[in-house]
Amino acid sequence: MSRSAHPAGPRHGDVMPEGHFTAPPADLNALDPKVWARTVTRTLSGPVTVGGVDVRQLAEEFGTPAYILDEQDFRARCRAWRDAFGADADVYYAGKAFLSRAVVRWLHEEGLNVDVCSGGELTVALSAGMPADRIAFHGNNKSVPELEYAVKSGVGHVVVDSYDELVRLSWIAEQQGVRQKILIRVTVGVEAHTHEFIATAHEDQKFGLSLSGGHAAEAVRRALTLDGLELRGIHSHIGSQIFDMAGFEVAARRVVGLLAEIKAEHGVELPEIDLGGGLGIAYTSEDDPAEPADIASALADIVRRECASAGLSTPRLSVEPGRAIVGPTAFTLYRVGTVKPLEGLRTYVSVDGGMSDNIRTALYDAEYSVALVSRASSAEPMLSRVVGKHCESGDIVVRDAFLPADLAPGDLLAVPATGAYCRSMASNYNHALKPPVVAVSEAGPRVIVRRETEEDLLRLDIG
Ligand SMILES: *Cc1c(COP(=O)(O)O)cnc(C)c1O
Repeated sequence: MSRSAHPAGPRHGDVMPEGHFTAPPADLNALDPKVWARTVTRTLSGPVTVGGVDVRQLAEEFGTPAYILDEQDFRARCRAWRDAFGADADVYYAGKAFLSRAVVRWLHEEGLNVDVCSGGELTVALSAGMPADRIAFHGNNKSVPELEYAVKSGVGHVVVDSYDELVRLSWIAEQQGVRQKILIRVTVGVEAHTHEFIATAHEDQKFGLSLSGGHAAEAVRRALTLDGLELRGIHSHIGSQIFDMAGFEVAARRVVGLLAEIKAEHGVELPEIDLGGGLGIAYTSEDDPAEPADIASALADIVRRECASAGLSTPRLSVEPGRAIVGPTAFTLYRVGTVKPLEGLRTYVSVDGGMSDNIRTALYDAEYSVALVSRASSAEPMLSRVVGKHCESGDIVVRDAFLPADLAPGDLLAVPATGAYCRSMASNYNHALKPPVVAVSEAGPRVIVRRETEEDLLRLDIG
């Protein structure tokens, strides 16, 4: 069982004894296609390539640490989601996983929409040419200027998260002489996480309006009376890194139940529902994510069935994958600086980045894989912990890993599946410089987000 991520922090630290590690893999040089981006392969002579480009060349040209993103894989995943959901549904890429202008252009070209949750994300999406009506704006505390900006830009949906925001947004829309399309975000009392879900979860969280407490129904009542708003439907998002569809099934049933109540009380059938994101990816070989086609048919079936039994016509469905699209498409390339064996325990391998470029291990107790990529090795496996260079003993990138015993300073390591929530959560802790994102495609490698410089740091620090 995975001990991995949860947005609210480490939850499953107790399912494994401290210091858990699996047996060493049969072949340390093997790259499991489940966790590596599509075009990553190890050459016969030993070094790893992505999109045909040798990682040693990438390190030479762009420096380390660097996020290396496989553009072909990113586009293929977009298409897989788009094709799986078809014309009766919309796929919104959750921009908070990783957003840049190049990514927005790829999304646009591949027919996806985009979710943003701040004015900054909205600016990136708009500046790269995403049509505003294909953008949805989320968040539990959007500011008045952010809402004004969103309405003025013509965003397709604002996902409203509170009573306060209903009134605020309606007033803003009226000031601008428009009716803003909205969804109401509800908490359905389902908390889904990796391999399990809780159908009776406490609705004790900051997001959304609760179904069981009657707040969702009350928000609908109010929205229908506000002249600045056009209520289009209901939104639910139940968790992250989910492998089991059962949580979505319960959530969909409860959302459809609300649609039926709304029809009974107000005589209106809302035309849209959005079931959010949260689909899991493989961080290690133990994770087994579903294919988009299976997810799409499962979700569409659930919604169709629930609506039929509630006597409703089937609403238009939206989903919001973030991690499932970008997560597997990138790896972080690091250079080894020190190798410190602690006899009888493990070997600490220090790399030239750490918690500033990947906070997920420290924050969520997330699990990652790692491989030596600058060469192959036939040395024995060595139980290792890959750590960063920050002034913090919790600065761990990969808690338990087997690396070849001949690992040495100067070797290149790569940590796969770092496309989501790594660059987007990167910090300047210890005045680290955020690494670049280098996209590799048929046309070769190119920087899509450049590395920060010390000049960037000093420019913000006005003395
Ligand atoms: C975070 C989030 C997503 C994306 O989650 P992933 O786990 O990256 O798929 C989608 N919708 C909402 C509302 C979110 O908050």
